[in-house]
Amino acid sequence: MSSILTDRFGRFHDYLRISLTDACNLRCQYCMPEEDMSFMTRSSLMTADELDTLAGLFVRHGVRKIRLTGGEPLVRKEAAEIISRLGRYPIELAITTNGVLVDRFLDVFKDAGLKSVNISLDSLNAALNQKITRRDHLDLVVRNIELLAEFGFRVKVNMVVMKGVNEFEVGDFVAWSKELPLHIRFIEYMPFDGNGWSAARVTTHEQILELLTDRFEYNKLKDGPNDTARAYQVKGYAGTFAVISTMSQPFCETCNRIRLTADGKLKNCLFSQGETDLLGALRRGEEVEPLVKQTIQAKYARLGGQLSEDYHETDPALLKNRAMISIGG
Ligand code: SAM
Ligand code: SF4
Repeated sequence: MSSILTDRFGRFHDYLRISLTDACNLRCQYCMPEEDMSFMTRSSLMTADELDTLAGLFVRHGVRKIRLTGGEPLVRKEAAEIISRLGRYPIELAITTNGVLVDRFLDVFKDAGLKSVNISLDSLNAALNQKITRRDHLDLVVRNIELLAEFGFRVKVNMVVMKGVNEFEVGDFVAWSKELPLHIRFIEYMPFDGNGWSAARVTTHEQILELLTDRFEYNKLKDGPNDTARAYQVKGYAGTFAVISTMSQPFCETCNRIRLTADGKLKNCLFSQGETDLLGALRRGEEVEPLVKQTIQAKYARLGGQLSEDYHETDPALLKNRAMISIGG
């Protein structure tokens, strides 16, 4: 399909992730620097109208899926309005949230036709969870995950696996999916500005499977053409588990994702150094489409042109990117 969303390598980008805010009610260590984090001013954020205008433009050019993210999307004051407005488009609408506020949004999700919710949770141990998130909300998040499943949403639980921190818990997360239809997703730890990443702290896809092998008998499931997660299922379990192996086995060849930051900048890759100011152009009354086209054409074949093929050779100090919290994961 020829479109402004098709890049030099023939990849058609029909999946847009929109960040609603860089603000958050948690402070996850792997997502944001502990100090010197400066947050966006309110006037620099896309308003609900501007966000709707830009989303509509992408949908007209072929976007079929929009995921809302952040920061924490549900702390944005206009979150309910934005979700409802995007619910009008002929797309699959999804959200990634830390789960703290989810119980207040069940009706909004249902009414907008949102069926799939990704919730981030990195430890089922209260003390460790508090250490990672620098806040104390574990019970609430677990309750909200179970509530979503009860209400019939498709629930994916995202766990960032960090060596020496929480990797010993992968089996407990899988065990949680025995009775509940939860889709547990283990994410390899990725480098962003000021997040303490080093190659030695990555637990790879292979190592995660090794940690599970003694405890579970599992089968490989069939993955979709653009899936970033490789999925498995333990025999007889209601749920599944999967690994997102961005570091050890990147999936750039089939990438169909682009990102719009909360301040209206388009990023053609999670790891791109460059970004294009769509909101500025919109506010000046300039044409946005040519900027979208240029940004898509500038996309590198792999990993934003910044990370090494072998992640052991990536020097986090040399990467030029935002913190994850202000990109929108
Ligand atoms: N606040 C929401 C949440 O936590 O789900 C949405 C934003 S958060 C930035 C989106 C996803 O990025 C979460 O699943 C989080 O675990 C993941 N993430 C953040 N930093 C990461 C890192 N350094 N490596 C891997 N995943 C990361
Ligand atoms: Fe907030 Fe999500 Fe980042 Fe944690 S991972 S600090 S919840 S944006």
